Amino acid sequence: MTFAAIVVAAGSGSRAGGDKQWRPLGGKPAVRWSVEALLHAGAEEVVVVVAADGFARAAGALAGLNDWRAVAGGAERADSVRAGLEALTGAPDRPVLVHDAARPLLSAEVIRRLLESLPGADGAIAALPVSDTLKRGSDRIEATVDRGGLWRAQTPQAFRADRLRAAYAVWPEGAAATDDAAVVEHDGGTVRLVQGDPRLMKLTYPEDFAMAEALIARQTRVGQGFDAHRWGPGDSVWLCGVEIAHDQTLIGHSDADAGLHALTDAVLGAMGDGDIGDHFPPTDPKWKGAASDQFLIHAVERLAARGGRLVNVDVTLICERPKVKPHRQAMRERLAEILNLPLDAVSVKATTMEKMGFTGREEGLAASAIATIELPA
Ligand code: MG
Repeated sequence: MTFAAIVVAAGSGSRAGGDKQWRPLGGKPAVRWSVEALLHAGAEEVVVVVAADGFARAAGALAGLNDWRAVAGGAERADSVRAGLEALTGAPDRPVLVHDAARPLLSAEVIRRLLESLPGADGAIAALPVSDTLKRGSDRIEATVDRGGLWRAQTPQAFRADRLRAAYAVWPEGAAATDDAAVVEHDGGTVRLVQGDPRLMKLTYPEDFAMAEALIARQTRVGQGFDAHRWGPGDSVWLCGVEIAHDQTLIGHSDADAGLHALTDAVLGAMGDGDIGDHFPPTDPKWKGAASDQFLIHAVERLAARGGRLVNVDVTLICERPKVKPHRQAMRERLAEILNLPLDAVSVKATTMEKMGFTGREEGLAASAIATIELPA
């Protein structure tokens, strides 16, 4: 079924600390979740209603998506929905889903249920039956309210576009409507109640963002990295972000910290985001002698930008000398600091190769690392 959508993102959101629809949630602006869900479900066009100063923010938040455009809303929600309806193109009897950008966790399933329930009615809204016991009162209970037949209205709310236009045409100018069903009810329309979704919670207060983050489905991924550097003349070596006095040093373009290099590749690998050489080409003189913690910080920042987080890391250093054990705790503490992880999520281990191979002959040192991450699914 073809349909259009109006996403209302014109509110000031002062209770959530301002501009909640533009704030990042799971690595992308809150408004983008809804617009993507509507487009993926097959919306032919999505009209995003923004405040007069919201056009640039919408362009940034929705960059790379097609079939949407922004229009300016009004002072009241009803004015904004009217502006969205005016901006719709396409068949006048096409279904339109009106949705609040402050409810980002919109599923394809809810959209499907609404579209299937619309024929034969003037509207269909996502709603949840009230399950808590309801009390009326101020500082003490005056009455227990029968919750039978009571529902919490959510969005999206689906209507035939021409039916919703007709209802708004007779809605009193300046009267506040907290949802669109009320406008259609006022015009004598029949509106169906369709099973909503608890995840369609409205971002109202600042703490709602933490709740919504916890509700976002995540996938666990693992990445691995390996690195080796050659020994050369020197008097200290950097390993896992710690400088250790030694009778040789590792030779490399940067500080040659093989532990941090392997770990950086593990984080990048878990994201499918190339390797350390792609991000910091050894041909670039900028990285000559560079402290390698910045490579790892860069990888973790790219992970955060995608709404991901590091779960744990495990590094193995492979060398005959220097002895790693006396420095292991300092290495773990330094990595935990760089990665902002608890100490028990950071492991540094070491092994020799029993005098075999290039590390056994002390030609060089090798490091292997694994990183576990979580990304929005
Ligand atoms: Mg290296």
